[in-house]
Amino acid sequence: MASLYLKNLSKTYPGRVTAVRDFSLEIKDQEFLILVGPSGCGKTTVLRMIAGLEEISSGELYIDDRLVNDVAAKDRDIAMVFQNYALYSHLSVYDNMAFGLKLRKIPKAEIRKNVQEAARILALEDLLKRKPKELSGGQRQRVALGRAIVRKPKVFLMDEPLSNLDARLRAQMRIEIAKLHKNLQTTFIYVTHDQTEAMTMGTRIVVMKDGLIQQIDSPQSIYDHPVNMFVAGFLGNPGMNFLEVLIIEQNGCIFTKLADALLPVPTAGGQKLKEQGYLDQEVVLGIRAEHLCGSGDFLDRHPECALRGRLEFTELRGAETYHYVSIAGREVVVRVSPELRAKTGQEVRVGFNMSKAHFFDQES
Ligand code: ADP
Ligand code: MG
Repeated sequence: MASLYLKNLSKTYPGRVTAVRDFSLEIKDQEFLILVGPSGCGKTTVLRMIAGLEEISSGELYIDDRLVNDVAAKDRDIAMVFQNYALYSHLSVYDNMAFGLKLRKIPKAEIRKNVQEAARILALEDLLKRKPKELSGGQRQRVALGRAIVRKPKVFLMDEPLSNLDARLRAQMRIEIAKLHKNLQTTFIYVTHDQTEAMTMGTRIVVMKDGLIQQIDSPQSIYDHPVNMFVAGFLGNPGMNFLEVLIIEQNGCIFTKLADALLPVPTAGGQKLKEQGYLDQEVVLGIRAEHLCGSGDFLDRHPECALRGRLEFTELRGAETYHYVSIAGREVVVRVSPELRAKTGQEVRVGFNMSKAHFFDQES
């Protein structure tokens, strides 16, 4: 169990690639924190600095209030699980899990106890004699987790641990890792570029881009209140729709104008846009697929909140159906009722629940 404090951490690699800039974050004891962002944004570098595998260029790293910049990796009491599992192919499952403990000269009986306990938690008890090549991908990933668990570290770092698994196993392991966190009651820092993992596993998400933190908050708050277009587009599947619109005022009401079509902005939001100086300016209207509709009550009650477009494509996702509709040359994704029948090429109406709309500066 441990809390961490990362204070203005930066990392510049030889050759002057600044991979992480001014990264500040407090991680509470027993938290399940997710670091998410596209490939190359610096996630692994942050983890490696925490683990002590990469020197910190500037800033301070505290574990339980102790400055550890100069503490060697092996003395930090942190375990890291890697994407490629990093198992020893010539060792059995048991010996892979016991390896780190043997190095630390832990008594044999204690090693046995710890390995058996980890094997029980991870349902590996029947596989302890096997070699890694005799295991499935999911089983190998469990062994990699087991190797971390046996050490009873203060902090678990996981670097995209599920990215080599197929979709079904990934979904299963997501739940297992979340349960593991509950069981172990230890601090987890989990890196992923997968927005589903980010949204479902952790208690708090840090969204990164180009080495910089974009937003830190709970999954739901980030989903509902993204601070910029990058965050809005990254989390959620499908991602948020973006439309460039003009903000105008007519008869005291605020509207967004897209080509010739107007959509009214609810009063409070409209006033805010006006106060922020967006009148007669172009902004980006962001709206999620579930806040658009193709039929039903909302459209009947609010015909003024609908735009006409052309159905380009229908995507069936089992429980959900999405329409890809082009409106004034832009494509939007609309979550529609599965009963709604419309043919590709047909003209359709799309209802906009403008109380759920976001507005962004174009450059954000
Ligand atoms: P992520 O894990 O988010 O994909 P990384 O932390 O691996 O990102 O990398 C961040 C940036 O730092 C990338 O531009 C990458 O090319 C660079 N980088 C990573 N490791 C090294 C290294 N050892 N030497 C030089 N540049 C590196
Ligand atoms: Mg990485």
